[in-house]
Amino acid sequence: MDDNLNATLHTGVKQQLDYVEGLLGKADDPSKSKLAETVIPQWADAWRELLAVHASDERGRCRECSKWWPFRFRRSRCTVWRTAHRNLISEPAEVTRTGRHSLLGQRQTAG
Ligand SMILES: [Zn+2]
Repeated sequence: MDDNLNATLHTGVKQQLDYVEGLLGKADDPSKSKLAETVIPQWADAWRELLAVHASDERGRCRECSKWWPFRFRRSRCTVWRTAHRNLISEPAEVTRTGRHSLLGQRQTAG
């Protein structure tokens, strides 16, 4: 995808999100309800389509996000699925981390 097309797509999507968000901020309740009836199924379909594109292969790797490097695959956690999980599924306010990265958020700067 060239840069101009990419910028056009990004601008269009951002404008649509701003438009819907603006309507929700101004509309009365019946209009909000009608907008929700229209937009929510469209966005649910869009999420399903996006998640299908990022479905895992037989080894659990995202076909879009995992890259082939000479002699091995670079396993990448799919950002689309991570974003979907973070935004569509309620999580506890604080997630308990374990393992070698558990202290990353607890480090303090020297000084
Ligand atoms: Zn992915």
